[in-house]
Amino acid sequence: MIDKKKKDTAAAPVEDLNPFHIAVSQFEHASRYIPDLEPGLVEFLKRPRRVITVEFPIETADGEVRNFIGYRCVHNRARGPGKGGIRYHPDVTEDEVRALAFWMTWKCGVLDVPFGGAKGGIICNPKQLTKEDVRKITRRFVAELGDMIGPFTDVPAPDVNTNAETMAWIYDTYEMMHKGNNNLGVVTGKPVEIGGSYGRNEATSRGCLFCTQRALAKGLVPGLNSVMGATVVIQGYGNAGAIAHDLYAAEGAKIIAISDSRGGIHNPNGISHAEAVKHKKETGSVVGLPGSKKVSNEELLEIPCDILIPAALENQIRGDNAANVQTRLIAEAANGPTTPAADKILFERGIPVLPDILANAGGVTVSYYEWVQNNEYEQWDEDDVNLKMHVKMERATDAVLARQQKINSSLDSLETERKRRSHGDDALEPVDLRTTAYVVAIERVARVTLERGIWP
Ligand code: NAD
Repeated sequence: MIDKKKKDTAAAPVEDLNPFHIAVSQFEHASRYIPDLEPGLVEFLKRPRRVITVEFPIETADGEVRNFIGYRCVHNRARGPGKGGIRYHPDVTEDEVRALAFWMTWKCGVLDVPFGGAKGGIICNPKQLTKEDVRKITRRFVAELGDMIGPFTDVPAPDVNTNAETMAWIYDTYEMMHKGNNNLGVVTGKPVEIGGSYGRNEATSRGCLFCTQRALAKGLVPGLNSVMGATVVIQGYGNAGAIAHDLYAAEGAKIIAISDSRGGIHNPNGISHAEAVKHKKETGSVVGLPGSKKVSNEELLEIPCDILIPAALENQIRGDNAANVQTRLIAEAANGPTTPAADKILFERGIPVLPDILANAGGVTVSYYEWVQNNEYEQWDEDDVNLKMHVKMERATDAVLARQQKINSSLDSLETERKRRSHGDDALEPVDLRTTAYVVAIERVARVTLERGIWP
């Protein structure tokens, strides 16, 4: 007898959720829209410059010796030092780190920030470690990396489960190893009193808000011209998600659902940021906030809303659930939350996605400002930082929106040019905003690579 369930599963196309495979497929797709990009250059731009794996022990608070694996990947340094966060999570893999480094290269390209792309991660679960354990892990990781990081080579920053305190430990460890120099620029996202920038902690969410506001003002979503009065759903309640709640609400949006790793909550009348933060602080989760209904993270993504903000991890909106998403706009505060199969479905359904390499780039932009302040021994006012970032986010958003129209109105000539250069004779489909953002970024990185010349 045929097992019907098995048969259905076998018939469904299985989506490859390896983040690095996804990142490369996005890049390859976008590169088809740049006919003058030589195949050898395409190949070079795909490959990471280096990936370092370190394995090390620490003695944990319970007296055990435990071993950890950490990665640091520099994808590309054509435009400046490698730049990218460090993630502490049990699901960290080498390919995830490579993907995140790869996305950083294009993010800095879209924003026109003079950095390359890098990322790091340690396989660990900070929730099952003491603060002292995490501090030892951080210090040992930095010591193992040695001169592989540095203010002008590769500059880490916060990511999932790391924060300003972690960055202070990174700085301090590096400083111990390089006494007598100005080492502040070795890491960004530091506490303000140790060379951190005002506005850095909020920068990812604030940049996402600026990008959303600009895109809406430019008419990206018919009938929705601003976040004022918009209903918003946010997945993930850490640095990116919780601060987005605060900032979008301050602009008049109604946040109707939020979530963290333990689940989500829904309240159509709106959720107070102060109450959610207080509840999470007291209980460890937003789940159980009085007046709200519990929902799973899967259900949360399907709640009808105007703006959906994924602010947790990769692969949340996929081929198997994108058809159920009921929003008018997705603004990616997280890196890699939407898979290529989902992108296709959303594009066909007319739901625009402000892609991660544009929408969450406020973080790296203010990291760049922090780095400049460190190198100049300066400290800028928060208003100055926010204003500078606002200008950059709007400029990048405008560039991507305008370029999408340009590409989609010149598909025939792009196809002809591809054929003329023997780069393929397959049809070019209209592009979404992710592909467009890649095109803008790839052109910038490729131009600098060629201007510098391939060494030697
Ligand atoms: P964080 O550690 O501060 O917060 C992560 C949040 O996601 C936590 O609330 C956690 O409970 C929640 N979460 C984890 N797994 C989840 C799941 N399966 N479903 C729902 N929620 C889940 O991390 P962060 O810095 O806010 O980073 C979140 C995302 O934003 C990541 O993709 C990160 O790469 C991206 N990002 C962060 C920055 C930054 O400056 N921190 C910059 C750019 C992009």
